[in-house]
Amino acid sequence: MALQAVGKLSARDFKADLKPVWCPGCGDFGVVASVYQALAKLNLDPDNTVFVSGIGCSSRLPGYINTYGFNSIHGRALPVATGVKLANPALTVIVTGGDGDGFAIGTSHFVHTARRNVDLTYLMMDNGIYGLTKGQVSPTSPHDLVTKTSAYGNIEAPINPVLMALSCGATFIARAFSGDPKNSQEIIAAAIQHPGFSFVQIMSPCVTYRGREQFDAVRERIRPLPEGHDPTVRADARRVAFEDTEEVITLGTIWVAERPTLEDGHERARRKASERGPFSYEDLVHSFIPDDGSVAAGG
Ligand code: SF4
Repeated sequence: MALQAVGKLSARDFKADLKPVWCPGCGDFGVVASVYQALAKLNLDPDNTVFVSGIGCSSRLPGYINTYGFNSIHGRALPVATGVKLANPALTVIVTGGDGDGFAIGTSHFVHTARRNVDLTYLMMDNGIYGLTKGQVSPTSPHDLVTKTSAYGNIEAPINPVLMALSCGATFIARAFSGDPKNSQEIIAAAIQHPGFSFVQIMSPCVTYRGREQFDAVRERIRPLPEGHDPTVRADARRVAFEDTEEVITLGTIWVAERPTLEDGHERARRKASERGPFSYEDLVHSFIPDDGSVAAGG
């Protein structure tokens, strides 16, 4: 149940009564803690905030947050969230999910939500494995990773989510690590404040199917943005996006741009339509059959 926004809320106020059922040590605990902090920092009104997810360990997150929530179906969180946002643009809509949910069955939704620049925040918790279904290879699993479905090592190359977000038109792109809550909460807060599609790849190790070593491997590779990095300069963003995360994992805000959101486009179209006045049946017929009686050529 959502809280009434009365005065300043603390991180604790955003904590739902439902206790997380993640495995002890799962990186997602760090992410949800950072989310509580970010929501409190922004003093978001829980009655006007909605978390939407798909299916997977990290997609349980809406249940643990004291706002409205929608645990939808596998890979479909982004279109559901788009519908929520278009129905009520005043809402703050945040999407959570994992690499399997977002970059396998959900890939095409990611592409189109980014290019449409829907004003959503997408927190993608990346552990490079399917955790909920017990350890199969995922689209971000590293090459050669041995899993239940890649007994001789993953023979496929992983997707690079940051590079994909950049090429699809996301207007805010960042990377965070569940083991670095201070940095993560700042990035999450900035992503929520950004007007447009914000994508945050959060490295969130799965201790059960990738072992404690995954935490160590991420820690060894993380580093801050290069000195002088300007997130509004495409060449700077591209340099970070092309890095191989098997070697370095750069944390921080990688790319920020401004362009009209899908909601802006809808508003513009609505305004033009009202200026033009109602479309009559005759207008419609004439759009297919010009005055000379010829039929418009089909494509
Ligand atoms: Fe976390 Fe992995 Fe357990 Fe899922 S299976 S809750 S990702 S540790």
